[in-house]
Amino acid sequence: MDRSRSVRARPELFESREPVARTKVPGVDGPERLLELQRSAGNAAVSGLIARQRARTGERSMTLADFSQGVRRFGVTSVKTGTLEEQTQLLNTQFGAEDRLGDVLQNDIRAHNFPWASWGPGDTSPVYASILAGFEDFERGMGGVPPVSEIWFFEFGFLPLTIQGQLRVRRGTMAAEFGGGKLALYKAAEAEATQKVIPVRRDRDRRPSRAERVTRDIGLRRIVSHELGHGMQELAYQRASEAADSRPELMARYRAQVGWVQRGARERLYDIRAPGVEEALAAGTEPDARFEITKENWDQGFREQPISKYSVTESFEDFGEAVMAYVQRPAVLQSRSPRRFAFVRELAEELFSPEAEETEAEAEGAQASGGG
Ligand SMILES: [Zn+2]
Repeated sequence: MDRSRSVRARPELFESREPVARTKVPGVDGPERLLELQRSAGNAAVSGLIARQRARTGERSMTLADFSQGVRRFGVTSVKTGTLEEQTQLLNTQFGAEDRLGDVLQNDIRAHNFPWASWGPGDTSPVYASILAGFEDFERGMGGVPPVSEIWFFEFGFLPLTIQGQLRVRRGTMAAEFGGGKLALYKAAEAEATQKVIPVRRDRDRRPSRAERVTRDIGLRRIVSHELGHGMQELAYQRASEAADSRPELMARYRAQVGWVQRGARERLYDIRAPGVEEALAAGTEPDARFEITKENWDQGFREQPISKYSVTESFEDFGEAVMAYVQRPAVLQSRSPRRFAFVRELAEELFSPEAEETEAEAEGAQASGGG
């Protein structure tokens, strides 16, 4: 099955480049300290403390109402804590009609295989500010944002699991998913955000680059950028089908550009700028095995360097990571992987440049008047 054709929600299983110590922020002692300060020194000291916390963590709190208002500018009409029915709906469409994974979830819950609870960040949370900032980062970096109609919060994402020939579901540890214009965010995003670590520069001669420490705010913005990258894929496929694009499909072009090749059920990645690789791939022959990039050797100084270990999962996720880096750390992406950088830049121009928007508006206008 050509998965790249049917773009759908994808689980995000973030793997860290190296174990990262949980960030202990000095000077943040929780509500007791705040109360004590409030009593002893008044509100000025409290706002001073909060300001210093924000300066350290990059976080600011935001109400759900302000968040909903803020993302409306990007076309998001609904932000909500998802219900079991909505997650059922999402899963039923997400994994293909025949699997009906949402119905499987309902059965599992009825059989008390696990409890289900709704989850959202609450009325006020710094998570909202970070998600909104992720949208703003994306718009600034790309020149536009792909269509997102709704943002749903759930406690867990679910993955298919077969036990004794029977289809079941299991809880996933993913942070977020994107599909059909809907962005789903899971509770794990809060904890996983600080694992969204990428190198600060190119790897050299088998010496991996240092990786920077990531705050929750930065991590959440990276997660949102990655998911909006999947949104760009959806938009590109939609545009291509509307315009009867004669080029190879988006992911085929991406694979050829950065060195991915289908081998049986799985994809392999080669260093596209290593001697003979591009020629071999174009000719349909096997490149030199020394130039294969895997999760074990991805940071050992190849010429064209993936942005993260997670990139090496498959081309689809590689694309999401490249978009994330293009938005969040463009200079790092450009130095590690000029091919990925160029691909994303061209696609951004194609999808979001003012000319592209105009052409679309004209087409819509013509359609509207033509349809009478
Ligand atoms: Zn992804």
